[in-house]
Amino acid sequence: VTFAGQPEHSVITTCAYCGVGCSFKAEMKGSQVVRMTPYKNGQANEGHACVKGRFAWGYATHKDRITKPMIRAKITDPWREVTWEEAIAYAASEFRRIQAQHGRDSVGGITSSRCTNEETYLVQKLVRAAFGNNNVDTCARVCHSPTGYGLKTTIGESAGTQTFASVEHADVIMVIGANPTDGHPVFGSRLKRRLREGAKLIVVDPRRIDLVDGPHVKADYHLQLRPGANVALVNALAHTIVTEGLLAETFIAERCEPLAFAQWRAFIAQQENSPEATEQITGVPAALVREAARLYATGGNAAIYYGLGVTEHAQGSTMVMGIANLAMATGNIGREGVGVNPLRGQNNVQGSCDMGSFPHELPGYRHIGGDEVRHQFEAAWGVTLQPEPGLRIPNMFDAALDGSFKGLYCQGEDIVQSDPDTQHVAAALASMECIVVQDIFLNETAKYAHVFLPGSSFLEKDGTFTNAERRISRVRRVMPPLAGYADWEVTLMLSRALGYEMDYANPSQIMDEIARLTPTFHGVSYGLIDRLGSVQWPCNEQAPEGTPTMHVDEFVRGKGRFVITQFVASREKVTRRYPLLLTTGRILSQYNVGAQTRRTENSRWHEEDRLEIHHHDAEERGIKTGDWVGIESRAGQTVLRALVSERMQPGVVYTTFHFPESGANVITTDSSDWATNCPEYKVTAVQVQPVQQP
Ligand code: SF4
Repeated sequence: VTFAGQPEHSVITTCAYCGVGCSFKAEMKGSQVVRMTPYKNGQANEGHACVKGRFAWGYATHKDRITKPMIRAKITDPWREVTWEEAIAYAASEFRRIQAQHGRDSVGGITSSRCTNEETYLVQKLVRAAFGNNNVDTCARVCHSPTGYGLKTTIGESAGTQTFASVEHADVIMVIGANPTDGHPVFGSRLKRRLREGAKLIVVDPRRIDLVDGPHVKADYHLQLRPGANVALVNALAHTIVTEGLLAETFIAERCEPLAFAQWRAFIAQQENSPEATEQITGVPAALVREAARLYATGGNAAIYYGLGVTEHAQGSTMVMGIANLAMATGNIGREGVGVNPLRGQNNVQGSCDMGSFPHELPGYRHIGGDEVRHQFEAAWGVTLQPEPGLRIPNMFDAALDGSFKGLYCQGEDIVQSDPDTQHVAAALASMECIVVQDIFLNETAKYAHVFLPGSSFLEKDGTFTNAERRISRVRRVMPPLAGYADWEVTLMLSRALGYEMDYANPSQIMDEIARLTPTFHGVSYGLIDRLGSVQWPCNEQAPEGTPTMHVDEFVRGKGRFVITQFVASREKVTRRYPLLLTTGRILSQYNVGAQTRRTENSRWHEEDRLEIHHHDAEERGIKTGDWVGIESRAGQTVLRALVSERMQPGVVYTTFHFPESGANVITTDSSDWATNCPEYKVTAVQVQPVQQP
């Protein structure tokens, strides 16, 4: 997949993997990439890169790429290659037939955080303007939707507060439910550099991740809690701060709503929230919790970085608000070296959320029910929009099984492998009448599709990605789309065939429209990004060159709002039948469902998903490293090989979900966040037993 030879020219573009958003030079010979080298002026990465971005780009020209559109009447029929015109016409006629038979709301669309801002904007516009409903959602539903809810509620904006560079001013770093050295390696290195300079580290994680005692780093505190106990722990940290007189009283008085604070203070001071009272729930010694809380509150600039170990819980949104409460309570927000920083898994999670890919929000996180903003989009798009929110992804599955949701346009997202409770998802998809999958490979979801529209990789299109620090960077086309069209052009064709014309000559014009309609993007243009290298939103009249640190003098919502965070135990409890708790995560060389990295040399380093298990639990079951084990939950069962690991605590097992054969999401359940339906991937009660090799 690589071209042997010396490069003739290079193009600056952005990595298509994680939310760090590293800049790369694609070094080219003709239209072939010779190598990817980290761009030394890249503002997110400063010349650094990891093994994914640097070496795992060959999937773009992998032999598995599908370059011809295909259709079939039934999912049991063989695929038939057709022209673009026939595929698009067939998809449009099927969507219109379904809507005529089953109603306007019987179809919808799913966008992807792997796609560009411009592409996700177009998909939500197609759903709202051409389908005429709000049944649009993004794969951020299953990762950071609680971040959107929790941060908007407390501090007023659904985004991280800082730049990555801000960590260089942190004296205390608290990492909660994130594994930056594997999941966000370039930021992980930056964080470790700050630790070597003397910053203190608190790790909150059920698993002993590398940051706890890996190469060149040792955490000052590892709060190794039980899966599902996040909110109890954050309350115990806050209880210590409140009852030991460690509150930032002046900051709170000046910057936060007094009544909400008083109510929160009274709640959190209750004995039931103390480290001692919650020790049985969290499994973390009370003395350790108290010491960590004191360090966070008094150790100087304290920054929190968190990941999916926070959001992917039944109380994901509650935990995000608990983290914001901690930062406000200690005055650790609104300047360098502090803040609340969600680490985004995919390259464009932030962007896909910004672009209005949620069923209740138009671009810029504005509710579809707001007359003024809806009328603004109606005038710009020349259509009437529905004021009621549409279906979220899990609601689409439920509606499909009820018989009221029949058609789906799914761009760049493998919902069968990535969403929880695979059997439920598969049954829902199998019950639908027209599924259009737009992807670069025939993924697991394509098994249920009736139309396959070949997608384009990040090397084949222009656009922008927005990383975890709100930084909008250019994606630049380095070679022509293998299938003839970039994804944004395919969405235009589908919309036109549906009778709603969208007219853009290039993605720059799409961004211009986004900027016109979105106050936080008013100043954004390709010209500005090219001039500055990248730009962090909000970028508008008040901040013409962007905003590195948010909430400086006041919160985006005005006063910060403390929210009461009552702990509620997860529905997933250990029982005699399911005595262990399973949690999931990622490893360095692979990326999410592995569609890209599995088709690169990176797979040599990690060829399968394994079940990590503590030696006590392994010995009790007669399991050794390398043995095959069956894992069963109330949702389903699968088989993996075991890895006996001291990273685990007794009673907790762990796996990754990079390989479809492992079926990790066959066992995760339909339990989800109360506010956003983000699945509870991180807590599943299971049994593990040795089995014969399958
Ligand atoms: Fe790509 Fe993330 Fe690695 Fe940077 S850290 S090269 S963005 S995968």
